[in-house]
Amino acid sequence: MDTEARNCRICGREIAAARLKAIPDTLVCVDCSEKIGGEFELEVNLSATGKAGSLKKTGEQVEVKRKRKPVR
Ligand SMILES: [Zn+2]
Repeated sequence: MDTEARNCRICGREIAAARLKAIPDTLVCVDCSEKIGGEFELEVNLSATGKAGSLKKTGEQVEVKRKRKPVR
């Protein structure tokens, strides 16, 4: 699927194609994303599915929740 060119919500410049590929729903360019400290707030939850006290891990699940920050 092609990613359409999009302009940054903050500075109006075109967002780099590579960034659009990596984050298809991004609204801001790399520079502005850094300025606001990241476009998204990430909440990472690690949950081991192995038994408590056991050294043998049967698996780990990573759950990442993304919350878009308000773009001013
Ligand atoms: Zn920008």
